[in-house]
Amino acid sequence: TLQPDVNHTRVAVRLDGVLKRFGDAIALHKISLMIEEGEFITLLGPSGCGKTTLLNLMAGFAEADGGEIFIDGELVTDTPPWQREIGIVFQNYALFPHMTVEKNVGYGLRMRGVPKAEIAERVEQALALVKLAGYGHRKPRELSGGQQQRVALARALVIRPKVLLLDEPFSALDKNLRLSMQVELKAIQRKLGVTTVFVTHDQGEALSMSDRVVVMSAGHVRQTGTPDEIYRRPQDPFVAGFVGDVNILPGRYVGRDGVAMLELGGNVLRLPAERVHATIGERLDLFVRPENIQLAALGPHSLLSATVIAHVFQGDHVDVHLDVPALGNATLFARQSGLNALTRWPVGSLVGVNVDDEGVCAFSAASQDK
Ligand code: ATP
Repeated sequence: TLQPDVNHTRVAVRLDGVLKRFGDAIALHKISLMIEEGEFITLLGPSGCGKTTLLNLMAGFAEADGGEIFIDGELVTDTPPWQREIGIVFQNYALFPHMTVEKNVGYGLRMRGVPKAEIAERVEQALALVKLAGYGHRKPRELSGGQQQRVALARALVIRPKVLLLDEPFSALDKNLRLSMQVELKAIQRKLGVTTVFVTHDQGEALSMSDRVVVMSAGHVRQTGTPDEIYRRPQDPFVAGFVGDVNILPGRYVGRDGVAMLELGGNVLRLPAERVHATIGERLDLFVRPENIQLAALGPHSLLSATVIAHVFQGDHVDVHLDVPALGNATLFARQSGLNALTRWPVGSLVGVNVDDEGVCAFSAASQDK
């Protein structure tokens, strides 16, 4: 069957100081990473940060200029792709157009000289796994985009890969189909326990699917952590700004009294010191999630006063945009779940703003690499 043993303690992939250059440009700066067997890891970052290059190095489609790559404990840095026992799914499916679905899925098994009867059985199982039983005789052009992507997934899984690599596999699908494919892929991955490396620039996709997320920018790993750690405890201003919606407010680190004391618009905000990545006296960028900004009638307990300048209706919530004179007329937005926000905070009204410090972190404004 397609079911490998499930063992979550072994290292499936190890990268040790992997370096990649294109001419004079460094695409990857000595990346080190350990991926456990059965883990679902996502490489997340903006276009050009090196995600695909890193995936290609794991696959063996490109050669590293330094460092070592191990798959299942074996050094594969110089091993060709077909000997690495990896399954790959690309953004554009890359199915063979002239072959039937069956032939597409069985391709890797034929290349490996697996007996015909076994190929037939494994192809059937793989097609059932991706809910395409009965589609074996069709050609790729006779399938929808979502179905083609499931064929590509079946083709990658049928060889029982040590690692499944997926490069933006759902980006060509419309939103609803993308969401249902995410759920389906996750279910299949869990069922098989296959180690998976998923590439995306979509933070929602990364947060919803992954055991751990590797946030990359400009050829560096900025942070590796669970979706919750990445979202709630960013260790780097790039991560804080890239993952999730955020307001960036100007402040200053004024002192410590057990907790860190930050000055924001003439008031003092107290935060656990480990969430302030700066030294005392420095100017700060405060990263505040819109859902962590509270609005109330302006009063003595308000941290800041603000004027409502716009509403952005988002279906299940409303983003209330505010102008804050005490922050040099910075604008920020607060996420309100009830639709009564539209009538409660009309455009032009004066409101009191507080921040729930749970959702705040701060970095030195001098840290340039955002
Ligand atoms: P995207 O999401 O747009 O695919 P990415 O994060 O996958 O981006 P890569 O494709 O890995 O980024 O590219 C990383 C850097 O390496 C980029 O600056 C890119 O221009 C460069 N690069 C990638 N492949 C080559 C190549 N074959 N020759 C020269 N430069 C390359």
